[in-house]
Amino acid sequence: MAQNTVEKTPVTMLGLGAMGTALGRTWLAAGHALTVWNRTPARAAALATEGAKVVDTAAEAVAANTLIVLCLLDDTSVDEVLAGTDLAGTDLAGTDLVNLTTSTPAQARARAEWARERGARYLDGGIMAVPPMIGVPETGGYVFYSGSRNLFERHQETLSVPAGTTYVGEDAGFAALHDVALLSAMYGMFAGAAHAFALIRKEDIDPAALAPLLADWLVAMAPAVHQTADQLRSGDYTKGVVSSLAMQVAGTPTFLSTAEQQGVSPELLSPYFELMRRLLAEGSGEEDLTGVIDLLVN
Ligand code: NDP
Repeated sequence: MAQNTVEKTPVTMLGLGAMGTALGRTWLAAGHALTVWNRTPARAAALATEGAKVVDTAAEAVAANTLIVLCLLDDTSVDEVLAGTDLAGTDLAGTDLVNLTTSTPAQARARAEWARERGARYLDGGIMAVPPMIGVPETGGYVFYSGSRNLFERHQETLSVPAGTTYVGEDAGFAALHDVALLSAMYGMFAGAAHAFALIRKEDIDPAALAPLLADWLVAMAPAVHQTADQLRSGDYTKGVVSSLAMQVAGTPTFLSTAEQQGVSPELLSPYFELMRRLLAEGSGEEDLTGVIDLLVN
């Protein structure tokens, strides 16, 4: 019988927390040789039984393969781990570093520079998934990548094993920026949902009955971001306006009075309403809410 003799890229993983373990498992399952290191050795046991080679130091792990994937707690832990390889005199020239540790754009750019100074290629990643979504394509989980396009293209097939890949540019900070932008929007959505549930909390309304109505409404409203983007690009914030700022500001007392009547603090809603009122005071009544974005940018 014909055998698939194309060798899959060997991968080194540094960091075997919940996410690192989930990522590593998919490479093993897909037939990639996997070398792993974790600060607490016991956490490598699961992947060892699945075929991973466990090494004692980060320096050994880095020396084992060209493609090195980091998935550590934060940028400080990346600092400590990579400083360890540096001290061990590990030669990073020709190494492909893919850092999936959540960081800020500035941290990602500094890390890219750190790698460049040592002759390594660098790709930063922002994971848009939780561990159970890794290796399960139908969940829609994916990873933002930014930094060396060359490195991304070279390893795209391997990087596509755990989750989808979305490359967002040569600027190493862009993956982190996209990651934080999407998660920030998510927290805004969670804040709105928290206020909605608070409004019915003391009533004879089943939260489980509100939930599907809420989810459908949020989905119905989500495409509004396309109009916002269109207005930002054109600079015309009156383009396609359906509900003017003036009309919406006039409605805010209804929301605040309802919150008061229900014994609910308006502290999640009020900051946004305050920005809307400032915008109206600047004479933007016929516009959409897009001008709020400019009020936020210093
Ligand atoms: P865990 O807390 O499960 O694991 C953290 C990992 O970092 C462990 O391997 C831990 O080692 C290691 N670590 C922490 N501090 C140090 C240090 N000073 N030196 C060496 N190693 C250190 O986190 P996750 O695996 O869940 O997350 C990893 C990354 O993935 C994070 O940046 C997170 O933001 C990101 N991510 C996680 C998601 C999730 O839902 N879990 C979702 C999207 C992104 P040890 O075992 O020795 O403690």
